[in-house]
Amino acid sequence: MFLKRISMVGFKSFADKVDLDFAPGVTCVVGPNGCGKSNVVDAFKWVLGEQSAKSLRGHQMLDMIFNGCASRKSSGMALVDLVFDNADRTLPLDCDQVSVTRKLYRSGESEYLINKEPARLKDIRELFLDTGVGTSAYCVIEQGKVDVLLQSSPVERRAIFEEAAGISKYKVRKREALRRLERTEQNLLRVADIIEEVEKRLRSVKLQAGKARNYQAYDARLRELRSVFSLAEYHRLTLEMDRRRADADQASDGVTGLRTRIDVSETESVRLTGETDRIGADLAVVENGTLQAQSQITAHEERVDAAGRRVVEERDHLARSQERLEAQQRRREALTAELARLQEQTDRLEAQAREQAELIQELLGQDRVLAGELAQAQALLEDEKAGVIELLRRTSHLHNEIGRLETHRDSLEGQHGRLAQRDAQIAAELRELLERKSELEARHAEIEALIDTEMRPLEEKKAEAARVHGLRADLAREITTARELRSGLASRKQVLADLEQKMEGVGKGVRQMLAAKTAAEETNRGLESARTEVRGSSIESGRTEVPGSLACIEGMVADLFEADLIHALVVEAALGDQDQYLVVRTGEAFLSDPAGFDKLAGRLTAICLDRLPPVVNIRDFSGYPGFVAAALDYVRFPEPLDQLGRHLLGKTVVVESLEAARAIAAQDTDGHRFVTLNGQVLEPDGRVIVGPPSSRAGLISRKSELRDIDQQLVEFERRVVTLTDQLNRTEAEADHL
Ligand code: ATP
Ligand code: MG
Repeated sequence: MFLKRISMVGFKSFADKVDLDFAPGVTCVVGPNGCGKSNVVDAFKWVLGEQSAKSLRGHQMLDMIFNGCASRKSSGMALVDLVFDNADRTLPLDCDQVSVTRKLYRSGESEYLINKEPARLKDIRELFLDTGVGTSAYCVIEQGKVDVLLQSSPVERRAIFEEAAGISKYKVRKREALRRLERTEQNLLRVADIIEEVEKRLRSVKLQAGKARNYQAYDARLRELRSVFSLAEYHRLTLEMDRRRADADQASDGVTGLRTRIDVSETESVRLTGETDRIGADLAVVENGTLQAQSQITAHEERVDAAGRRVVEERDHLARSQERLEAQQRRREALTAELARLQEQTDRLEAQAREQAELIQELLGQDRVLAGELAQAQALLEDEKAGVIELLRRTSHLHNEIGRLETHRDSLEGQHGRLAQRDAQIAAELRELLERKSELEARHAEIEALIDTEMRPLEEKKAEAARVHGLRADLAREITTARELRSGLASRKQVLADLEQKMEGVGKGVRQMLAAKTAAEETNRGLESARTEVRGSSIESGRTEVPGSLACIEGMVADLFEADLIHALVVEAALGDQDQYLVVRTGEAFLSDPAGFDKLAGRLTAICLDRLPPVVNIRDFSGYPGFVAAALDYVRFPEPLDQLGRHLLGKTVVVESLEAARAIAAQDTDGHRFVTLNGQVLEPDGRVIVGPPSSRAGLISRKSELRDIDQQLVEFERRVVTLTDQLNRTEAEADHL
């Protein structure tokens, strides 16, 4: 992927449409100050979603739009379009070129497009994720940024190196993973809370179940009591109904008696009325008699009056007739007797009248009594009638009551039937419920037993889960540490490999010779490898100008000799500058083209294997105090170089310290050299080399370290894989738990 073209319209100083094509070969844009070079960089950053106007050297985003100048008016919109070549499909889109566009209008409205299709800023960020292209990525190093980089603290610089090494995305992922772990822990806490809550609810549900059971018992008892009460009530009402019926019968008997008595009283009343009428007729007859006697009395009194007048007349006539007087006297006596008799009769009649009057009075009294009795009888009758009416009313009321009671009885009977039915049903239900209850109780006991038995494994599992959780966290930590160490090692390896590749620390002449040899070999193999290009122009020239006798070169001592990392310092000290000796098979071959040596860029020492002197008198100092090892034991080399090894290091002894070296040397060194563990050297010719190791990186340590790092990396890789495996297993176990 590479940037092919930038097109800008109305962006900053580019008022008109400008297309910049970055075809392969274009490496820079040159121009006077203020001509807009940095604006091109700004345009690039802007399209990739830069949100900070300050970082684009403006005060606000609208400063990105061409502001106008003396001869032109400002433009209303800024548009920048980046075209990337995507032939290698670095960008996850299936097309050979990808265009990314950003537009901004003066109204503040903004728009992103990918391949002319509207897109979101997020899409653009995702598109360039992991490609190293981005606003803050190291792909854009702006004016002044280099200074900032050079002046920045190691920590800030590290961020850039990490970005370049592609670590930062792992860091982001790590942060994400840690966040997820934290979230999982919180979820676990929440789950524990929920379990606690559910257990609480379970307890309350158990209480409620107890209450419900009590309720069922009380309800059953209530139903039972209600049916008993209803039966008792039914019985009482039946008795009451019978009693009321008897009362009603009795009342109808009373009514019949009273009716008979009323009839008798009415007959008596009729009879008394007849009697009264008869007595009234008798009284009229008596009154007639009285009136007759009185008229007779009146007639007799008139006749008495007439007789008196005749007496007077007779007295007048007395004289005239004494005889008649006498006759009259006799007559008067007769009349007097008659009168007496009439008087007597009158008295008797009067007595009789009085008697009759008394009788009338008595009869009247009797009549009054009878009338009173009649009135009483009538009142009684009225009372009786009212009583009868009351009785009738009560009878009808009772009838009603009876009817109602009968209905009630019917309904009670119906209810009784229903209740009996319900009773039977309830009894059946109760039986069923009791069965179910006993079943449930058995099940409950079973479940509780099960809970009891399951609780222990649960506790164990919880403890196990906590353990696994801890283990998982430990593993995650370990993995992180291992990965960090691994990436540290990888970057160290990169640095060392770089140095190694560039042959840092190797003399120019040796470098030139070795490069020429490599190039010649590669040319021989007909390969144009990338390595040759990387090694640069000096090598290019070396290829043609160094002597042709390259074939006899075995290599550089440092390349041919190997040492373990812990011994590398000592071996380097022991070899001194000899590590850069060029090992050649034969002196004759090497020296066959002496003219070529003049073209070398620097001096070099070659050591010819066929011209090595024999090494004699190598002694064993192993018994001496302070002796550590023979230097030859610390190095490895191919067998043909055996003599070279003996020549360079055969008479070198590794000792603990200079004191020890001096003590041994004071006896008989026999041409041996002594190297201390910290790199000091006591030569047999009186030279002593002390002080810190040479500042240039040791070639042998570098190689040893590289080997060591390779080994460690393999181990770390294996460890990370094992740990990841363990973590996966632990996670699976945790999930399972
Ligand atoms: P130097 O060599 O000094 O770094 P440069 O080539 O990087 O200069 P820039 O800083 O890119 O130049 O360009 C600055 C120019 O862009 C200034 O002349 C400025 O007036 C002009 N400029 C910036 N923003 C706008 C805008 N919104 N409208 C018009 N011109 C603008
Ligand atoms: Mg500039």
